[in-house]
Amino acid sequence: MMNRRQFMGASAGAVLAARVQDPPAGAYDLVIRGGRVIDPSIGVDGIRDVAIAAGHIAAVEPDIAAGAAETIDAAGRIVAPGLIDIHTHAARDAGGPALALQDGVTGFVDAGSAGADNIDPIAENIRQAPQIGCALLNIARTGVVSGGELNDINAASVALARGAIGRNLDVVVGVKVRLSDSVVGANDLEALRRAREAAESFDLPVMVHIGQGYSPLRAVMPLLRSGDIVTHMYAPPPNSVLDDRGRLFPEVAAARRRGVVFDFGNGVTGHFTWEMVERATRQGLWPDTISTDWNIRSGTTGVVDFPNVMSKLLMFGMPLTEVTAAATTNAARVFPVFRNRGTLNVGAPADVAVMELREGEFEFVDNYQGTRTGSQRLFPFATVLDGRLVPAGA
Ligand SMILES: [Zn+2]
Repeated sequence: MMNRRQFMGASAGAVLAARVQDPPAGAYDLVIRGGRVIDPSIGVDGIRDVAIAAGHIAAVEPDIAAGAAETIDAAGRIVAPGLIDIHTHAARDAGGPALALQDGVTGFVDAGSAGADNIDPIAENIRQAPQIGCALLNIARTGVVSGGELNDINAASVALARGAIGRNLDVVVGVKVRLSDSVVGANDLEALRRAREAAESFDLPVMVHIGQGYSPLRAVMPLLRSGDIVTHMYAPPPNSVLDDRGRLFPEVAAARRRGVVFDFGNGVTGHFTWEMVERATRQGLWPDTISTDWNIRSGTTGVVDFPNVMSKLLMFGMPLTEVTAAATTNAARVFPVFRNRGTLNVGAPADVAVMELREGEFEFVDNYQGTRTGSQRLFPFATVLDGRLVPAGA
């Protein structure tokens, strides 16, 4: 295909035609040039320019000739829809969302940091965030407590949860319940029932945090519906997605078939081992969504940043296009608030993550100090939010 310069030299008649077809120079606010555009939502994986005007995607084509007020040179880099992190704790701190934005996270879900007693300031942090954000309300009125927030089942109050959702309807998109034995003990199924009851009044999904549970997962899975989310899907035993002989429980496969979303949820302690990732993925249990379980201290834990977490799945052989889908398109489909995000489709808000895929030897850690070495790692390079390049370090 000819670029504009070759085209201009072709003939006077052709130049005239080009003038009619091409927008005038400077028509775009920003063009991201020459990157490998990976957008699973529109089935694109190839070298393209991405043109942005008035905060929206204006064109995704090879060799966009028209000029732009600003240009990002993306040659040799990955250009993806802005990353959507459906399990983070970014909003626990007022500055969290802006930090995550530096990593390419243009949409986030604060997953259960807060319950009915403390959701209001977190909801305020979300409203003040530069990017689109929302929250899952913890069914425990206290939100996450390190010693376990549901040791007294009375902390799971449907009435209080309903009130908290009702006064933060612009922010709350679901209800979270942590089902670990240390959090809830033998009341796990009752806590899930209460989370469901609160969520159902507003037609919202439930996210369950699994791992080291009291009840076997085969008792939990039948309680989940299409649109519900299982996070920490590779949490190790007791009561993991695998039976005692390492085989995937049929109830897990059945849940997935009926539309329950399985989410990675990296986290720091207790949420995944390399062995679990290996055994489960060999049996076809890949994540529908990749999330970080990030907080403002994650830079110094095994999370580091969202692209680093994506790299862990690359190491296990998940194709880059699918890793990208799990961090963008698939994540956007989980919550209606992201309905026009996770895509570079023309007309969509221009949220873009530009990343570098470096080759080399990279060490990754699980939640048990286990290390594995991969040959590729994604690094954040630039973030575009609503059509504007986010200043580095801002
Ligand atoms: Zn979490």
